[in-house]
Amino acid sequence: SVTLFWFRRDLRLQDNAGLYYALKENKDVLPVFIFDTTILDTLEDKDDARLTFIHQSLEILKQQLEELGSSLLILHGDPVELYKKLNPKAVYTNHDYEPYARARDQRVKEILEAKDIAFRTYKDQVIFEKDEVLKDDGKPYTIFTPYSRKWKAAMKPFYLKSYPTEKYTRHLLKTTPLPFPTLKDLGFVPSTIEFPERVVKKSIVEKYDTQRNFPAIRGTTRLSVHLRFGTVSIRKLAVLARQKNEVWLNELIWRDFYHMILWHFPEVETKAFKPAYDRIVWRNNADEFDAWCHGQTGYPIVDAGMRELNTTGFMHNRVRMVVASFLTKHLLIDWRWGEAYFAKKLLDYDMAANNGGWQWAAGSGCDAAPYFRVFNPHLQTEKFDKDMTYIRKWVPELDTQEYPKPIVDHAFARERVLRVYKEALG
Ligand code: FAD
Repeated sequence: SVTLFWFRRDLRLQDNAGLYYALKENKDVLPVFIFDTTILDTLEDKDDARLTFIHQSLEILKQQLEELGSSLLILHGDPVELYKKLNPKAVYTNHDYEPYARARDQRVKEILEAKDIAFRTYKDQVIFEKDEVLKDDGKPYTIFTPYSRKWKAAMKPFYLKSYPTEKYTRHLLKTTPLPFPTLKDLGFVPSTIEFPERVVKKSIVEKYDTQRNFPAIRGTTRLSVHLRFGTVSIRKLAVLARQKNEVWLNELIWRDFYHMILWHFPEVETKAFKPAYDRIVWRNNADEFDAWCHGQTGYPIVDAGMRELNTTGFMHNRVRMVVASFLTKHLLIDWRWGEAYFAKKLLDYDMAANNGGWQWAAGSGCDAAPYFRVFNPHLQTEKFDKDMTYIRKWVPELDTQEYPKPIVDHAFARERVLRVYKEALG
């Protein structure tokens, strides 16, 4: 009978750990993707660009599989309910570390195992997961620098080896092409957002350490959406990073770090990593939040970032830090509001990295900057967008009457946040 390989955050055939084992250990392997209604029901925008991205990625996969004489089974529904009805020989898939996915996979495992169907899962999304890089006392790291040191020491070529799925593609189930639902069938419409190319630009990686902080230039790789959906392999990127640029390698390690944190501390999804920070009395002014969302705060670098996000689904990392700090510290709005807005808009939205980034900016995260470090948007502009190229691209009306006055005075906001944080943290 048929063995299923279940695609989730790993939408590629090459160097895919779970797919490799499914093909190596079985004959008649049929890849499947499930449009999970539990996730789809949370999406507010019918033209959510991530759906278009997934749909396009599946189209490519399906075509590649059909060239190999097989196809891709696409289902739509609640995976737990679907697996109650399916009776394959086994189901193979790759780990997903988000709390919802863990609970879902646990249910699927129970349902399948009750029917004597094996559910096999593999590490694919990160280089080191869960308990693979721990402190000497066996506890998880909560500070990045020692974690990254241990990560690098543990790194052996073995961990970067590609999984040669191509060796066993003859084990794919032979079938005529299977149906492919349109976005409309799924209740969505195509987005017009342009997606970053699935290309690793070596020239960018080589200069990463000197160019990564300037939003006006293409100094970062823009691979985040591809890493999010697994359309590129992290192992391939880590090999390149080790050869070319240690600073870039560190960013890939941050990615592993936040996935590890979310695995060990799933409560960060809703709670401050440092509990005292949940005593902060946020102002949560809805009009100010709205101005922030729409890039109308009168702080040009903040507004440029938010408009870039709203238009492209991407925001440069330096600017993400500035807008997140501005929302939490200048406006005293709960980081969870900003996190949720990013979750809605970012193509590369990933709970581990997004939650990590927001809690870092708010000061409540593991390894966050001390709370009294309040980014000064003007100084950030002077340092990182001196001639205002990035700002003018997104805020063309900057020097006109149309552009709003600053929503709050910087010195006043700084004093206010220090007072409010101090009251909460003692
Ligand atoms: P590059 O600079 O070329 O880095 C390569 C890859 O490393 C990235 O694609 C990403 O996968 C990973 N990476 C880089 N920086 C980080 C980081 N600080 N933490 C974790 N992984 C990192 N990244 C996301 O992938 N999804 C998110 O939802 C997300 N939300 C963020 C929210 C805030 C408030 C902040 C400050 C940062 C957030 N980041 C997030 C991290 C970072 O901003 C993006 O990964 C990066 O801007 C993506 O651009 P790039 O692909 O050009 O990255």
